[in-house]
Amino acid sequence: MEAGMEEIPVKVAVRIRPLLSKEVLHNHRVCVRLVPDTQQIIIGKDRTFTFDFVFGKNSTQGEVYTVCIKPLLQSLTKGYNATVLAYGQTGSGKTYTIGGGHIASISEEEKGIIPRAIQELFQHISENHNIDFRVKVSYIEVYKEELHDLLELETSVKDLHIREDEKGNTVIVGAKEFQVECADEVMSLLESGNAARHTGITQKNEHSSRSHAIFTISVCQKQSAESQKNTDVPQDPSCKSVRMIASKFHFVDLAGSERMTKTGNTGERFKESIQINSGLLALGNVIRALGDPKRKSVHIPYRDAKITHILKDSLGGNAKTVLITCISPSSSDFDESLNSLKYANRAK
Ligand code: ADP
Ligand code: MG
Repeated sequence: MEAGMEEIPVKVAVRIRPLLSKEVLHNHRVCVRLVPDTQQIIIGKDRTFTFDFVFGKNSTQGEVYTVCIKPLLQSLTKGYNATVLAYGQTGSGKTYTIGGGHIASISEEEKGIIPRAIQELFQHISENHNIDFRVKVSYIEVYKEELHDLLELETSVKDLHIREDEKGNTVIVGAKEFQVECADEVMSLLESGNAARHTGITQKNEHSSRSHAIFTISVCQKQSAESQKNTDVPQDPSCKSVRMIASKFHFVDLAGSERMTKTGNTGERFKESIQINSGLLALGNVIRALGDPKRKSVHIPYRDAKITHILKDSLGGNAKTVLITCISPSSSDFDESLNSLKYANRAK
């Protein structure tokens, strides 16, 4: 492709959640608003930011999915990798948006990105009988720069390693991958991983806000011999190779972006917050390097953190990525919301 004609590798969306009822009860003021009919957000009196997509307090889960994720799911089925990242301070709506919460108790309307993507993928599979699909699921958490398997809690941290194969694919050696046949099966794996995220490793309540959770759906497609006969493509009888396409979709619920250092943490907690911020920092640097028009010659620092290393083959290149920055509207969260908007703005 001609330089300058390439698609922007990372799209950036911002979603403002509504005030929560407890915030309304405490008379919190709203400090962020959308500029109607634009993709702009104003925070405070007059600080304006522009993004690829903006979603206000009345935006629905369905809208966010259709605008941000549907195109990624379509490219997944065409063989491209895709990543969606939910960024923002704790309580800003990351888990709600990505759909990693307690699923059984959520209405159809309120379902987030992951359940919708799963449904659409299996819909696509059921409409394409001529293609042999194999779908696998894994669910990994990065906590203090260590990997944990949310689908196989007994797996020791030492047995999980990030590797790149000869084709440049990133794989987590040792991670449990479940082959799945239907949407319900994926949903129950997601549900059990979500439950593990909250109680599994440390039993700490705030644990999930300090870790990155990466839910991955891998798809392998094989055009069957039967259907190849039915295509116009001339068949070479000596050619035994079957057309195989492999791609994957990462759904990432990032650690809370709040600046813990400000609140005077010391010791272990302090170290923890530094490591988490270093992951988010590395991610910001990678995304920014990908957006650099000279990126072919720029070093992209994937290896600076586990989260970027894991996502290496799914950020940039042919992969499609959406960063959804979640924002609280409350003026009590002004500082963090402004920080998040700046982060998202740098990622554009
Ligand atoms: P995070 O994962 O960023 O810590 P959550 O997703 O847990 O935040 O959201 C915090 C609270 O706000 C939850 O009670 C959630 O249901 C609610 N919430 C978040 N986003 C929305 C939204 N767009 N509409 C309605 N409620 C929301
Ligand atoms: Mg969360």
